[in-house]
Amino acid sequence: MVTRRPNILIAISIVLASAILAIAVWVLAQMRDDALRRAQDSVFNVSLLVERDVSRNLEIYDLSLRAVLAGLKYPGVLDLPPEIRQMVLFDGSASAKDMGSLLVTNEAGDIVFDSQASPPRRINLADRDYFKVQRDSPNVGLYVSHPFMPKVAGKTVSIALSRRISRPDGSFGGVVVGTMRLTYFQRLFTGMNLGSGGSMALMLSDGTMLMRRPYDPKIIGRSLTGTANYTRFTLQPSGEFFGTAAIDGVERWYAFRHIDIYPLILDVALSTHDIYVEWRRRAWIIGTLIAALNLTIIALAVLFSHQLRRRLAAEEELRVLARTDGLTGLNNRRNFEEHAEEEWRRAQRNGWPLSALLIDVDSFKGFNDLYGHSAGDDALIGVARCIAQNVRRPGDTAARYGGEEFSVLLPNTDELGAARIAEQIRAAVQALQKRHVASAHHVLTVSIGIACTKGQAFATSRALMDAADEALYEAKDAGRNRVLCYPVASRAATGTLATHPER
Ligand code: GH3
Ligand code: MG
Ligand code: MG
Repeated sequence: MVTRRPNILIAISIVLASAILAIAVWVLAQMRDDALRRAQDSVFNVSLLVERDVSRNLEIYDLSLRAVLAGLKYPGVLDLPPEIRQMVLFDGSASAKDMGSLLVTNEAGDIVFDSQASPPRRINLADRDYFKVQRDSPNVGLYVSHPFMPKVAGKTVSIALSRRISRPDGSFGGVVVGTMRLTYFQRLFTGMNLGSGGSMALMLSDGTMLMRRPYDPKIIGRSLTGTANYTRFTLQPSGEFFGTAAIDGVERWYAFRHIDIYPLILDVALSTHDIYVEWRRRAWIIGTLIAALNLTIIALAVLFSHQLRRRLAAEEELRVLARTDGLTGLNNRRNFEEHAEEEWRRAQRNGWPLSALLIDVDSFKGFNDLYGHSAGDDALIGVARCIAQNVRRPGDTAARYGGEEFSVLLPNTDELGAARIAEQIRAAVQALQKRHVASAHHVLTVSIGIACTKGQAFATSRALMDAADEALYEAKDAGRNRVLCYPVASRAATGTLATHPER
């Protein structure tokens, strides 16, 4: 089927190319989903890890504050010699790298005990936010301060964790405060792998920025209140979303969480660009390859179908050549005989009459001798045209039977009908008025013999043609330029279907 219809090849190639394209699109969509899922996992894991670390450190620090509070309650602690008192109060205190001093103030804000100095440094902390908060309200518990620059040694931006010292009567007796350098968070953030466009931030619940990666000292302490991302952070204890940072305008996938019991929010984010950068590179490569492959498939199909079309056209031309006569364009004898056989059987089956004409040019040898072979050829073409013009019904077949002989097959046509057509042909040839001085009729003429199956018992199509030939022979014998039907009972008899110009 494909080899008969070249366009099917192109259609198949387009279907194939579409299928390949659909598969590629599907695979790329999966790869894109995978890229996002990997990013989500990694952001989630980093946020979990950092939250654990921060919450663990704050817990340890809070334990130190509680230890100092407990120590202050021991009777006689205040009367101990300074070195021993330092040990009792600050022994449990954290001594990690980013932990600053642990201080105890009186109700006026003056430092009374100092983990780093004995006697304590003479500094008043009454202006600090944590001091005021603890002083003004008895039930704050652990308070995490806004970032500040410490008054004591090591000028590094820090936050303070504080607890209130309440006297037995409940009145304010000062604070225990520990400072923590923000470099701790900075180092923690830097250690995480987040790609070049990633970001992390730790902020107080009220939106005050404590630390951000990428690090920018100007951002520390800035309030994020009112920004879209911060608003989303406050809605749930933890969550994930696509958002655009107010600070740098970069779109990222965010994971955020509130840190345990502390008033802190952490967010970790990977930039959308980083998430899809590798996917985009692969999509380009795959897309280009698929496009090239599809174009090749379609181009090959077009090329092949073009070749096929040319081959089919050539075959058709050969077929036509094989069944036509080169000089006259009529069917050739072989084709005629095949037709005759076919029509013979059809006529037998249906009980239709089938008529055959045999047409022979009169005294043609003489015509050739007189006017030359080339003129003879032209005459044959003229005769063929006369035949073709009078044999026009579909199913009728006209052929060059050989030399200057022609044949006509008329299915479903009786003797009368056949004789009418034969006479038209004969008259048409005569009407050509082709000079033929050697002929008795002075112009080129034909004789025609007719045979019809109606009322005759022919055994084969061949026998029908033989009968027509016999009638033709009789027509020649009777003086040429005439039509005679088989059987010719009596040449002179009137009432036969024989025709000739004298009548
Ligand atoms: P009749 O009236 O008895 O048919 O006489 P005739 O001369 O036609 O008879 P014959 O069959 O002896 O001659 C046929 C001639 O037709 C012989 C040949 O020179 C000529 N002829 C056959 N085929 C062709 C052809 O293709 N071209 C030309 N120019 N002449 C042909
Ligand atoms: Mg002949
Ligand atoms: Mg002849």
